[in-house]
Amino acid sequence: MDLLAELKALEASFRAEIAACSDDHALTELRDRYLSRKRGLLSDKMRLLPQIDPAQRAVAGQRANELKRLIEEKLQERASEITASQRAAKPDLIDVTLPGIRPPRGFLHPITKTRREICRIFMQMGYSIEDGPELDTDYFNFEAANIPPDHPARDAQDSFYISEDTLLRTHTTPVQIHSMLRRKPPIRIIAPGRVFRRDATDATHTPMFFQVEGLVVGRGISFAHLRGTLQTFAHMMFGSDVKLRLRPSYFPFVEPGAEVDISCFLCKGRGCRVCKDSGWIEILGSGMVHPALFDRVGYDPTGLTGFAFGMGIDRITLLKYGIEDTRLFFENDLRFISQFGG
Ligand SMILES: [Zn+2]
Repeated sequence: MDLLAELKALEASFRAEIAACSDDHALTELRDRYLSRKRGLLSDKMRLLPQIDPAQRAVAGQRANELKRLIEEKLQERASEITASQRAAKPDLIDVTLPGIRPPRGFLHPITKTRREICRIFMQMGYSIEDGPELDTDYFNFEAANIPPDHPARDAQDSFYISEDTLLRTHTTPVQIHSMLRRKPPIRIIAPGRVFRRDATDATHTPMFFQVEGLVVGRGISFAHLRGTLQTFAHMMFGSDVKLRLRPSYFPFVEPGAEVDISCFLCKGRGCRVCKDSGWIEILGSGMVHPALFDRVGYDPTGLTGFAFGMGIDRITLLKYGIEDTRLFFENDLRFISQFGG
């Protein structure tokens, strides 16, 4: 038996076969046929080594090991060639070793974030969220809110009328009226939503903006409850060190009415650009529900009181994030919007 000659023949047949391999599957089979420990052709030859003449054994053993290395090298080489030619034939072939491309991740609009935060704070205080139509009648938007046709407050809320009697709501107050008609006291709701006014667009005005109003109706509800509620809200929204200041004001649907300021959370009251050096920032309007509203929804006003408040979500968002121009909210420039994260 000439083992050296057999190894030589084996090498020749391997070289012929590997040249014919054209895919990974064929290469795997080829490796098995030659190198498999149990039935590989080269393994068979190596098992014969102990039987041959000791003089030849060292040379044959060395030769067999060389052939094993050669087979492994050639298999690897051929595998690379096959991959390269597959890639060349199909340039869009997916290379799973390349770093991936992250799909773009969505994020919330800053106004949505603020709206959710406001809702969360009031829900923690036991409020439920009410929704209402954006298109409503003159009656619900104005008259039921104690703003009759000749009332000067209508001028301050120049409106988009769809027909003589129908308009885009100018505030979320009609949701309060709808809710009172649907429910019986006690009531504790907030109503966030879009409102519309014919304002010229500038850094602080847009014809559409967002409000949230709150309404509490029950027996024994006092102005102190209003103040306590708004104080709690201001602490949770702007920080526990902000102070509250109420100033008498007029809104047709409340009596008495108050504008509510918080101490400037940016300069801590020392005076800055945002608070116009006053140390105070106006954030909302509020008051005790006008008895005329109870009349209109058919409540017996004996012993019944309530408070209401309303604020601009856009304005709160401007303040909270130090944004200077409210138009940025509606231009949908992703470079702006995406800064507010998820
Ligand atoms: Zn300030």
